[in-house]
Amino acid sequence: MRQLVWSLIIALLIAGPAGSQGPDPYTVTPGDIPESIRAKYNDAAAMTNAGNGATALNQIKEIVHVIPNYVYGHLMYAQALEQAGKMQESMAELEVASSLSPDNQSVLSQVGRAFEISGQLDKAIRTYNRYLFLYPNADNAKDIKSAVELMRSEVQKRDIHADSRGRDNFLDETLLEIAQRWSPSCMPIPVFIHDGTGVRGYAGYLPELLKQAFVEWAQNSGGKVSFKLVNTPSSCLIECFWASDTSGMSSTLEEGETVASGTVKTLTHAKITLLTTITDSSPQRFKGVCLHEIGHALGMHGHSSDPGDIMFMFSKGNDTRANTLSARDKNTLFLIYTLSEADFARYGRSTWKFHPFLHYDKTTNEATTNFNEGAYAYNTGRLADALRLFQEAVRLSPATPEFNAMLANTYFQVARQDFKNQDSIKYQKHMELAARYYLSGNLPKKAASAYASLAEFARSMKNENDARMYDQESKRWQN
Ligand SMILES: [Zn+2]
Repeated sequence: MRQLVWSLIIALLIAGPAGSQGPDPYTVTPGDIPESIRAKYNDAAAMTNAGNGATALNQIKEIVHVIPNYVYGHLMYAQALEQAGKMQESMAELEVASSLSPDNQSVLSQVGRAFEISGQLDKAIRTYNRYLFLYPNADNAKDIKSAVELMRSEVQKRDIHADSRGRDNFLDETLLEIAQRWSPSCMPIPVFIHDGTGVRGYAGYLPELLKQAFVEWAQNSGGKVSFKLVNTPSSCLIECFWASDTSGMSSTLEEGETVASGTVKTLTHAKITLLTTITDSSPQRFKGVCLHEIGHALGMHGHSSDPGDIMFMFSKGNDTRANTLSARDKNTLFLIYTLSEADFARYGRSTWKFHPFLHYDKTTNEATTNFNEGAYAYNTGRLADALRLFQEAVRLSPATPEFNAMLANTYFQVARQDFKNQDSIKYQKHMELAARYYLSGNLPKKAASAYASLAEFARSMKNENDARMYDQESKRWQN
């Protein structure tokens, strides 16, 4: 689960100059806020900044009424409305702010965040891109860039997802890529919580909240899932680690991360890492992160597209609504653990099914573990990790077509990035590897289209010889 990028300036106190973080087109002049309401404004802004805007909604509304053209007044009101859980009214207020000053740094940052929270990822990406274009040197530009990348990879997956919003579960979304669950013989699942003593930010109440989160899932699983705390490794195991920074995680914005492994449809091990230094941390919020990561560890590999679910991709700050299990979270877990073997086998991508004999061989079991972790890395947009893990899977088990196919897919994605980076040498190398592994993966048509892309590229580089060669290869595998 990852945290949202926080707005730069939520609601400015009049004493603080606007745009201190960059070239903000909106400038505060003393006349913007009449002397008579300045003290009231500052009080309201201080409350909103402290997260208590909900209790001052009426005062803020009055203030905004007096200064209707003051963009920060609307931003403050929008923020307070969000804190009160009134998302739609908050969005309406942001629209007013946006119409007053569309390219204002704070407006773009807060509007982007609102789209992010409400799951409107396309709009969030567009708004943040505008932000990055106008304010490339802003303090939070790096965070916003990684947020955009994560959202992009989520949007790509969502294209093929059945959108679950409006239904009572999100089984299709969460099991689309990988479908794994713990076998009944593992129950109660052993949980090993490592001692976090010495990790910066660690405190005794954190493991207590984590344990509460395990209890909450178990109590809401209809008796299907249970846990027991252990102090030693075991053949089935959820291991929980503590980290004070995100250096070991896939993105600097993560608050927790889960890596699960096992065999085709079965989980045997999950490793949860929890950040001890979550920005703006509250016990409720931390528990929300724990619930989310445990959800992953229980087999919910993919995210829900509904912001009301704990398995939505973002945590929601001090908004307590999403820090507890929703009905959809509970239904989805129950379904995962009640589907028949045959029904469960239909989930997960078909290309990731394995030949049954693989499980009896130690070497190929290692290959399978690498493959599953590679698939997880691929799904979470960590292409470099995915590449390394799939390469290892193919090295250990070169004759397994599924491993080759996923290695090919990864090379294909890497080549697309090379293309964007205008690195023609790497592009050509990686796209050729994609084509080669598509052939080993029994996917000649995909190889043909990789060769066709190479031909087109060579032609654009005025390299007719290469273009002809790739065309021939493409034709050869077309049929
Ligand atoms: Zn997640």
